[in-house]
Amino acid sequence: APLAWAVRGLAAVPGTCLPVDGDAAAMVLLSVVMVAGLWAWWPSPSGRSLAAAAGALATAALLAAAPWRAGADEIVMLDVGQGDAFLVRSQGAALLVDTGNRDGLLKEACARQGVRFLDRVVVTHPDDDHCGSLEALGDVAAVEGLLVADDLLECPCEGCGDLRDRAGSERYPAGVRGLKVGDAVTCGRFTLTVVWPASFADEGGNGDSLSFLCSYDGDGDGAAEWTALLCGDAEAEQLRVMAPSLPADGIDVLKVGHHGSKKSLDESLVERLAPRIALVSVGAGNRYGHPAPEVCDLLAEGGCTVLRTDEVGDVTVAFSMEKIEVSTEHAAPSS
Ligand SMILES: [Zn+2]
Ligand SMILES: [Zn+2]
Repeated sequence: APLAWAVRGLAAVPGTCLPVDGDAAAMVLLSVVMVAGLWAWWPSPSGRSLAAAAGALATAALLAAAPWRAGADEIVMLDVGQGDAFLVRSQGAALLVDTGNRDGLLKEACARQGVRFLDRVVVTHPDDDHCGSLEALGDVAAVEGLLVADDLLECPCEGCGDLRDRAGSERYPAGVRGLKVGDAVTCGRFTLTVVWPASFADEGGNGDSLSFLCSYDGDGDGAAEWTALLCGDAEAEQLRVMAPSLPADGIDVLKVGHHGSKKSLDESLVERLAPRIALVSVGAGNRYGHPAPEVCDLLAEGGCTVLRTDEVGDVTVAFSMEKIEVSTEHAAPSS
């Protein structure tokens, strides 16, 4: 525990950590070799250089702990390859929707974004590309509690049973909670209201993905300045049923369902939802052909900016009273 505490403390200092994923014994050995190498190679430090190093470290630690670093209100689509992992954070609170199934990619993304604590992790549905890395997440971030669809807690199918076994309540200080339509989860200035599923129709499959209308209330007057829809792998068929519970004038940010599959959206839905920013989480060259080009075209024709993890890596959507600002890990490919 003291070692983990020291490592977490050091990891909080910007630029001190290089995330790698490997066997624990091999990593300890590698660390010992690196320390021994440094010891042998490093010229004996003078008092002045030691003081300079200590000063630099203290400044970096202050920067890491500075309150303004925790100030951003943002939804970050983490690049975890073919799968979903969406980070919502505001005012020091953080929530992760899905984990993807590539442990190394999730850990690297958490390191890039400085994620060390999560108030809640949401699993939208038990498919591996949404919750496969749930255990690995525990290696890099302390997770307070887990949220799933209420029906998942009782569903007799194998997928839901497996997830219940893996995510036993004793693993999380705040336990595992089932959410129903209308339930709301607060994350700083964001409120995530459950809009789907009313009840399982597909044993917790894609069509039963736990979906949220995420409202951003920047000034705390109870009225949302901006909205986003996070819908897991739910597709057009489910979105049409959800639509009446979504704002009449549409939403600002859409996490495109089911990685932008052919059936994820249709023309009338794009018109109804009228998103300005669409987020598509996909692996480069995935075997499903996600996202479908026709879905991207539909969105683009509606005047929406489509951002894909396979093209730009992590996508950060930052919210403020006045505007929504998007930044990406990599520059967009020229078309
Ligand atoms: Zn099930
Ligand atoms: Zn999926």
